[in-house]
Amino acid sequence: MPTLAKYVFVTGGVVSGLGKGVLTASLGCLLRSRGVRVTLQKIDPYLNVDAGTMNPYEHGEVFVTKDGLETDLDIGHYERFLHEDLSRANYLTTGQVYWAVIQRERCGDYLGQTVQVIPHITEEIKGRIKGALEATGSELVVVEVGGTVGDIEGLPYLEAIRQLRDELPREDVAVVHLAYVPVLSTTGELKTKPTQHSVKELRAVGIQPDFIVARCPTPLPLALRKKIALFCDVPVEHVIEDRDLSSIYEVPLALAAEDFDRKLLHRLGLSSAASDLAAWEDFVRRLQNAEETLRIGIVGKYVELRDAYLSIVEALRHAGAALGKKVEVAWIPAQKVEEQGEKALAGVQGILVPGGFGERGIAGKIFAAEHARRTGLPYFGICLGMQVAVIAFARAVLGWSEANSTEFDPRTPYPVIDLLPEQAGVKAKGGTMRLGEYPAKVQPGTRLRAAYGEAQIGERHRHRYEFNPRYLEEFERAGLVPCAISPDERLVEAVELRDHPWYVAVQFHPEFRSRPLRPHPLFLAFLRACASFSS
Ligand code: GLN
Repeated sequence: MPTLAKYVFVTGGVVSGLGKGVLTASLGCLLRSRGVRVTLQKIDPYLNVDAGTMNPYEHGEVFVTKDGLETDLDIGHYERFLHEDLSRANYLTTGQVYWAVIQRERCGDYLGQTVQVIPHITEEIKGRIKGALEATGSELVVVEVGGTVGDIEGLPYLEAIRQLRDELPREDVAVVHLAYVPVLSTTGELKTKPTQHSVKELRAVGIQPDFIVARCPTPLPLALRKKIALFCDVPVEHVIEDRDLSSIYEVPLALAAEDFDRKLLHRLGLSSAASDLAAWEDFVRRLQNAEETLRIGIVGKYVELRDAYLSIVEALRHAGAALGKKVEVAWIPAQKVEEQGEKALAGVQGILVPGGFGERGIAGKIFAAEHARRTGLPYFGICLGMQVAVIAFARAVLGWSEANSTEFDPRTPYPVIDLLPEQAGVKAKGGTMRLGEYPAKVQPGTRLRAAYGEAQIGERHRHRYEFNPRYLEEFERAGLVPCAISPDERLVEAVELRDHPWYVAVQFHPEFRSRPLRPHPLFLAFLRACASFSS
């Protein structure tokens, strides 16, 4: 008996930013809820080998998988909607594909051949798509093709999909096309023409979609569904409404109301077990019905672009829903703190300083960390947020006014944050940080231990610098204590203030492990502290 291998491709048309990542993640959530062994894969048609070297201004946060790949933020949506850790096998870029083919060419694997996009690149793409099923032991993979149909970069992927449709039995491959149905402001009418045009583009490369998902601001009436069905050559029941919703977590429920998952399984020749979305529905209800608001200040460099801190915001939401609180984020530009001081931090019940790189805004973040220390305001430092807390403490409490990280001042007399020993001499920037999950020991009697309730943790990392162990004793004596350390006791993974209601700063990124139905213990503990600060 051959094992089951089914492929669903999600393409996008008209404009980017329609929510292809959330649609893909939602399909994962729905199929999983019916007991299907499903995995998700994202294709980013860039020449970058991973997302680590890309600009958060353009692409939002860099997500890190457990096995240490720096990916696009959609992988974060996938993990959150699947409640599962993904890996390198779930993320594919053009850079990776070409790299592998060129290396093979240099090894002589293609001796005598002309190496070309078709068939060599397309074969590599197909191999990696199939590889996602194998690596995860799944029976179905939903593959999101980044970008929009018609982009030059996307062509080899669409060609690979076209070939797979030809090579495999009809019921093993389905194509879902997400397109935009805008409302004309002058007449208030929904317009289907952009959708028709993008389907035309898809057909021009030989792909007939099986489902059209119509992203629309208002409900999609039957007449328009029929029109899309007729012009795009799909059955009318295969035109799926994807309306603007107040939260991304409502999307699976809205798609389930359209019976999308059952129709998709039917198209793939799979019988569908009853779906169980009760826990997800309960989470969405909590999210919507929370009455009390907690106002959390995020002090960062990229606050004008919210997606740069996406996983942190989602982690706050998950923890908030579990506690019955609505989290309102006050976005505080670090530079505003530099200009206005305390005034910029007024009115928040807790401060979170997230990860970051480079010197801009550092003084503002140090000020925020010091403000929280002095006033008893709950403080949660993440990665760079831990490093600035250490610098602030060194300057204010230990009296080392020039203490710094060597990232910002290579000649500081007090390098309280310094390069990891294994980073000395590393020149290349791509994929060379300390990346992925590492174990750590949580010290007994600390707030961190109370939050985790466990002595051993594993958390994901993305940094080059770390707490300089040379100064450990001085810090500890003065009240900033290490609360998590690496198993070999060489690295300080987290610190906290002994005499403070809740001041915890971690070198890792707990936000990557938070899930809607399994909020992260540190985010829960932080929000609990924030809630009692207000009362
Ligand atoms: N820039 C710091 C480092 O490289 C912090 C990194 C981060 O916050 N992710 O160590």
